[in-house]
Amino acid sequence: MTNRVVIIGAGVIGLCTAYYCARRGFAVTVIERKPAKHDGCSFGNAGMIVPSHFVPLAAPGMVALGLKWMWNPASPLYIKPRLDADLLDWGHKFWRAATADHVRRAAPLLRDLSLASRVCFEEFAAWPVPDFGFVKKGLLMLCKSEHALREEARMAEQARALGIPAEVLDAKQAAALDPGARLDIAGAVHFPLDCHLPTERFMAALQAQAEQLGAKFIWECEVLNTRHEGNRVGTLGLSGNRTIEADEYVVCCGSWSAEFAQKLALRIPMQAGKGYSLTLPNPRQLPRICSICTEARVAVTPMDGALRVGGTMEIAGLNEDINPVRVRGIIDSFCRYFPDFTPADFDGIQPWHGLRPCSPDGLPYIGRTAKFTNLSLATGHGMMGLSLGPVTGRLIAEILSGEKPAWDIAMLSPDRYS
Ligand SMILES: Cc1cc2nc3c(=O)[nH]c(=O)nc-3n(C[C@H](O)[C@H](O)[C@H](O)COP(=O)(O)OP(=O)(O)OC[C@H]3O[C@@H](n4cnc5c(N)ncnc54)[C@H](O)[C@@H]3O)c2cc1C
Repeated sequence: MTNRVVIIGAGVIGLCTAYYCARRGFAVTVIERKPAKHDGCSFGNAGMIVPSHFVPLAAPGMVALGLKWMWNPASPLYIKPRLDADLLDWGHKFWRAATADHVRRAAPLLRDLSLASRVCFEEFAAWPVPDFGFVKKGLLMLCKSEHALREEARMAEQARALGIPAEVLDAKQAAALDPGARLDIAGAVHFPLDCHLPTERFMAALQAQAEQLGAKFIWECEVLNTRHEGNRVGTLGLSGNRTIEADEYVVCCGSWSAEFAQKLALRIPMQAGKGYSLTLPNPRQLPRICSICTEARVAVTPMDGALRVGGTMEIAGLNEDINPVRVRGIIDSFCRYFPDFTPADFDGIQPWHGLRPCSPDGLPYIGRTAKFTNLSLATGHGMMGLSLGPVTGRLIAEILSGEKPAWDIAMLSPDRYS
């Protein structure tokens, strides 16, 4: 009987996997190279749970938009030109995936997974731990121009066709829905099923719940190598000359998953998509509903009385540098939609950054690999890792228990590019 599960990585995907595996009675150990009090992509993100995001990043028009924005240092999407075989291969696969047919096939699955994840968050909200601040007020897609509002209205139509409610609002109606902050917009689309939460508080609650169910954590410990025989992973070599052995291994290494997979001669195309956020502790106005400034791709989330503003997707490798021009681009865009704020409001606010794990087709890698009987992957969630975290953990726990997953997840196979 399989009972020892080692999970590599304690981001939101690793923690959700730990929680659901521990709930099923597995002996779970999570290994994380950072200390227990750590930061990372899962902590400073925009905190949105988004059934409205049923279109993967690889969609028609994105390649042209990427090429246009590439030359603007303050634009929402930036691909740093470099002669790197992995980037070229990823770009080619992205281009091939960015079709209407891909979106048509992916959207119902993303919808089902997002809605199932939302149900998980509702269950989590009933945990007997201090409330982690789950807010169910929807999301506003704010449009500055009439043109963007028309495009978003078309998206709303597609959403409704998939069974996701969406309402097109003019500027007055949007202001009436959220009187918390003054907006300078042509209108908005409200997706009432979307939610938001304060990410740090949620991550702490999730870890506490996993620990209460018996999950053990090994902090400041990097998995350096693997020993495998035939089609089974045997032991992991850890920093500090340690080793660990389990019956099942789950790779939840976020943007570093491709590097990790290479140790096992597995090919998981992935690029890190860097984003930034800035959190105003005492904002001059506090919206009640989270929003996305549509044209600028800037996310705005009220969190425990603070206001987090985040954005940009910078494909520039696994580096952690902060690009002040791009941070400035986020601030300037935000102030155009929220005209009572000024760039000076952000003086002295330290920008946070995180690396989103981005697959070329915009879909996560979830499931077993054909090469090993005891290795699974749960990674590549791009812009939707928080949103899809719980359902991912649930799926992995089902797979490790030998059950057929509740949805057909063939499109998410970690072997789809091998
Ligand atoms: C600005 C911004 C805003 C965002 N907003 C949202 C949002 O509103 N909603 C949403 O759903 N998503 C959002 N995202 C995306 C979301 O944050 C990511 O998809 C998610 O955090 C990825 O989680 P993860 O667990 O896969 O990776 P990570 O959080 O990066 O965790 C991976 C962990 O693995 C560890 N690790 C790696 N290699 C090893 C090793 N060899 N040994 C031990 N440990 C290892 C790393 O140290 C790391 O802690 C946003 C991202 C950004 C940047």
